[in-house]
Amino acid sequence: MQTIVIGAGASGMAAAITASRRPGNRVRLLERQNRVGRKLSATGNGRCNLTNLSALPSSYHSDTGADCFALEAFPVSSTLSFFEKLGLVWVSEEDGRCYPLSDQANSVVDVLRFALDASGVQTVLGCEVQSVQIGKHGFHLETSSGDFSCDKLIIACGGPASEKLGATSDGARFLRMLGHSVTPLSPGLVQLRSPEPLLKSLKGIRAQASMQLLHHGDLLLTHSGEVQFVDGGVSGPAIFDLSRVADKQYPCQLLLDFLPQFSHNALLSAMKNRVQTLPELTAEDLFTGMIHNRLGRVLVRKAGIEASVSLGSLLPAQLEKCCTQAKAFSLELTGSFGMENAQITIGGADASQFHPKTLESLLVPGLYACGEVLDVDGPCGGFNLQWAWSSGMLAGSLCHEVTP
Ligand SMILES: Cc1cc2nc3c(=O)[nH]c(=O)nc-3n(C[C@H](O)[C@H](O)[C@H](O)COP(=O)(O)OP(=O)(O)OC[C@H]3O[C@@H](n4cnc5c(N)ncnc54)[C@H](O)[C@@H]3O)c2cc1C
Repeated sequence: MQTIVIGAGASGMAAAITASRRPGNRVRLLERQNRVGRKLSATGNGRCNLTNLSALPSSYHSDTGADCFALEAFPVSSTLSFFEKLGLVWVSEEDGRCYPLSDQANSVVDVLRFALDASGVQTVLGCEVQSVQIGKHGFHLETSSGDFSCDKLIIACGGPASEKLGATSDGARFLRMLGHSVTPLSPGLVQLRSPEPLLKSLKGIRAQASMQLLHHGDLLLTHSGEVQFVDGGVSGPAIFDLSRVADKQYPCQLLLDFLPQFSHNALLSAMKNRVQTLPELTAEDLFTGMIHNRLGRVLVRKAGIEASVSLGSLLPAQLEKCCTQAKAFSLELTGSFGMENAQITIGGADASQFHPKTLESLLVPGLYACGEVLDVDGPCGGFNLQWAWSSGMLAGSLCHEVTP
């Protein structure tokens, strides 16, 4: 039997290694870039957050309501033992995020590369698949390196998020060519834009905050975690998680509470106390020791107060305004930083058109899909790679079950 896997990203490599373990199966892995796992090397800020100990089927979103059975068939424990067998030593952090002990994403790529070689997978680099057709016996592929045929085809081309790392929407195109439906593609886990002029002064600051996302005054989501202020917007893991809900709701409002450990009244009395005990300090020092200095100054400015006035001269109404800024700092969100900056693609090939227990197409026998090309996405923290590993291993098992 001849199997072709298109795409040597996370899911494609997991699929190819798994498929090669089937006796009598010859596996070819076609990759358009000149190396395998290019996006994988950039994950987790170069550290590769390869999974999360709390990932479950229910951790994932799918607009078509797909059943993420792959996470049951190949749960986090299977991923970790898969990598242990390949020689990778991993560590977990408090929030369940797992990383290679080396702290280098390239180590994850390396062990996969070694395993591909050891298992006899023929990896063809610089090979861009241009079209996929159903042939008389299996599938026929036209590529930049010539034509190929196979009995089983696994599409693992990912999605268009982060084009600079070689991402394409070819997988969705191939699956459409083969009769599958594709839901609209949009950027996920992405920075959000805000026109707030004061953001310039906050650039580079990281702050822990509780947050509320609102649309026309209606609460869409509450969340908490780290916010990073960047040029023209906000970033950071907590913002990435909001981006899925904010998508298609713009403009919306983000309210940040930088001091969730204080009630409004407790904060107000702490400020009054500071004014009484240190009246000679200036307004720009109102939050010193509680909040990042630069952020504290911006809160005071946003409350309409001159930085240079003395604390002792602040009126109760002005203190009230500062307190409101610290507990409900409002930013208008007008959009995202787009697909080119996104970590993942939301949407993709309708995963409910694939058998949940095999990931074989319900429309085209012998066709499988895995990873981000499918309409499945997870939150920030190792969940998306876990989906890539689980779905890759399931598709690579090349099982055939007839009824959905
Ligand atoms: C900067 C960044 C950081 C991230 N960090 C994390 C993290 O720490 N943890 C986490 O869980 N997730 C993270 N993600 C998300 C994660 O990388 C993806 O969810 C995952 O890589 C998807 O795997 P995949 O195999 O489906 O697709 P990909 O890894 O994108 O692989 C698809 C492959 O297909 C190839 N290809 C595309 N079209 C063709 C074609 N026509 N012919 C041949 N080959 C083709 C591509 O070149 C690519 O190599 C991050 C993403 C980015 C962009």
